[in-house]
Amino acid sequence: MDILMVVPASIIVFVLGASIGSFINVVVYRLPARLSVLWPPSRCPRCKNQLKAHDNVPVLGWIWLRGRCRYCQTKISLRYPVVEGITGIIFLLIFWEFQVSIITISYWAFCSWLLALSLIDLDTMTLPSVLTKSGLVVGICFQMAVGFFSQGGGIGLVNHLMMSIVGAVLGLWLFDAIAIVGSIALGKEAMGGGDGKLAAMMGAWLGWQYLLLAFYIGCLVGVIVYGGAMLLLQRKKIPFPFGPCLGLGAVITLFYGEGILSTYLGLFF
Ligand SMILES: [Zn+2]
Repeated sequence: MDILMVVPASIIVFVLGASIGSFINVVVYRLPARLSVLWPPSRCPRCKNQLKAHDNVPVLGWIWLRGRCRYCQTKISLRYPVVEGITGIIFLLIFWEFQVSIITISYWAFCSWLLALSLIDLDTMTLPSVLTKSGLVVGICFQMAVGFFSQGGGIGLVNHLMMSIVGAVLGLWLFDAIAIVGSIALGKEAMGGGDGKLAAMMGAWLGWQYLLLAFYIGCLVGVIVYGGAMLLLQRKKIPFPFGPCLGLGAVITLFYGEGILSTYLGLFF
């Protein structure tokens, strides 16, 4: 892309991402509490005053309010602008990597679902099936669209549909197998039921090869993060939300999966 186009396009993409991030904040806050994500509009949880449009601007709104409600001065968590900023950056990185394409839009949606699920898992240790199931359906639709537009119409569409379904089924099996082995070995449930649905959703977006890679990276992240935390805190048991690990594995796979797989296969063939 022309350098003169890259800068304004990047700004637009960041603002779009940050606005989606703002909506992700709403979903993460309201969905587990069983509130509507669409109504009422954003308001202060303490005094219920509705946010003015210019206070609702992603990232900047929090900064010029200095992290406090305009009306009652209640502190607004730093997490809101951070999530908005991170979403903006993820959108930007995807745009730079995959340019103007259906794949870019598809991955924007995928990462939005992953981020919302990861945050809810961190907060509540659950992965709402409203999100995992809708993500699965949206993932299959995007795979078909990517197949149609980038790999020759109807045949590409069918190929990608098959790939997507196989990935989703493998995701479910993977976690069923872990749950069975885990329950025999440990005598209790090894993983939450939501993780299998998340893996199915990831399989729909990634296909089975990249799902396996994402799962592997997710396990590594989990071992490092939670193993490290257990050592540091000197505790035998800490809460272990696996969703964020899987999500991070998926995002790393989006960017580096091709390189990692070809390097790995190159070692053997
Ligand atoms: Zn307030």
